[in-house]
Amino acid sequence: MSVTNLDEFFSMLVEEQRDIRIALMSLEGAGKPVELDQTTQGRVSRIDAITQQHMAKAGSTHLKIQLERINAALARHAAGHYGVCRRCDLEIDHARLMADPAAPFCLECTEELAETKRQDMRRNIGR
Ligand SMILES: [Zn+2]
Repeated sequence: MSVTNLDEFFSMLVEEQRDIRIALMSLEGAGKPVELDQTTQGRVSRIDAITQQHMAKAGSTHLKIQLERINAALARHAAGHYGVCRRCDLEIDHARLMADPAAPFCLECTEELAETKRQDMRRNIGR
């Protein structure tokens, strides 16, 4: 992967990390409203949308999971492994990373892992 792409994904991850942290803060209240300074003003409607969307679903749980995925992706970036599938060590498809910069696995592995999970669930139900 080129350095330009890496930088691009890195900024996407950092931006989403910041948005989720702000959304989490406003979700969990903590008694403080989100501060509207120069850097956050233009982002408020987007953060509002994220917040409401996630609040409607599963409160802050989903946001926390996504934040963990992003933190893990940033750690891989720092270690120089970003964009490489954690399971098969092949490069993750560029389009896939565009859609989900925190993706830890390539499409093939994601599908195989999902299938394994489904089989495990079926086995557990069968018990
Ligand atoms: Zn893979």
